[in-house]
Amino acid sequence: MNAYLGIDVGSISTKGVIIDNENHILASSYIWTQGNPMEAVKTLIHNLEKQIDKKKVHIIGVGTTGSARKLIGTMLNANIIKNEITAHAIGTLSLYPDVKTIFEIGGQDSKIILIEDGIVVDYAMNTLCAAGTGAFLSSQASRLGVKVEDFGRIALTSKKPTKIAARCTVFAESDLVHKAQMGYQKEDIIAGLCKSVVSNYLNNVGKGKKIKAPIIFQGGVSKNIGVKKAFEEEVGCEVIVDPNGHLMGALGVAILAKNSPIKTNFQFSITDNNFETKGIECNKCSNHCEIICVSRNKKLIDAWGNRCSNGDIMNR
Ligand code: SF4
Repeated sequence: MNAYLGIDVGSISTKGVIIDNENHILASSYIWTQGNPMEAVKTLIHNLEKQIDKKKVHIIGVGTTGSARKLIGTMLNANIIKNEITAHAIGTLSLYPDVKTIFEIGGQDSKIILIEDGIVVDYAMNTLCAAGTGAFLSSQASRLGVKVEDFGRIALTSKKPTKIAARCTVFAESDLVHKAQMGYQKEDIIAGLCKSVVSNYLNNVGKGKKIKAPIIFQGGVSKNIGVKKAFEEEVGCEVIVDPNGHLMGALGVAILAKNSPIKTNFQFSITDNNFETKGIECNKCSNHCEIICVSRNKKLIDAWGNRCSNGDIMNR
């Protein structure tokens, strides 16, 4: 059976799926990137490998997306490397063909994608402000002494969410400490945080956007039912969370790899190679571009970061 591997490498988490020709997920894995995307991808591929019968499943397409997509695409000899907006839209459309709005809140960034008739017509990303992301919620959870996985469940028990100023992490943290000292109930503070994540999102990435149903909410934070409920209260309609919402980027890029006319000769043993990245500075002009060099078993396989051909070390 022919199959396709899609990998979404973010700064916080790394996600991967193997799909068949009908886009069914045959294997999936979600792990923490831990600041080392290459090692994370090796672990991810081992996890995926264990879930399939390699005598029957042949990977003929590999796609990568996410912030380390170029690096990992080079490492795996991917036949397609795509940005997160396209990958998330394709993945979501494969399951929800009528989707009009995608809310996505990940570990360190968030995005909104607007779709008309199956085509992306507008989008926005927020990579600057950590308030309202998964990393922000995790740090607030540890400050409150609860597990972030329990946040949503606790939030739903609140009858009177506390107002938390969450326009940036510094304000949110000091406001949270202040509210806790004033004796507000923990569940009310947590529900207030969920609401503040939503208002931060809608006032930043969602600002000025025409949000229409059906709305799909995905990314790691979509697992928080308190944030889902807060979104529904704000937008006044159902916000759908798919059980595989955290895998949507990986699914989308696996579908793109399947549809690409170029195929790859991917082998699981590729992870046995010794990969290295090195940044070198081009000193040929005052721009001093940082050129990222990737080598496999000490042999240079790709390099990028040069702003002109004088710094092209691949074609010297
Ligand atoms: S790559 Fe081109 S623009 Fe960049 S430092 Fe080298 S010569 Fe200058």
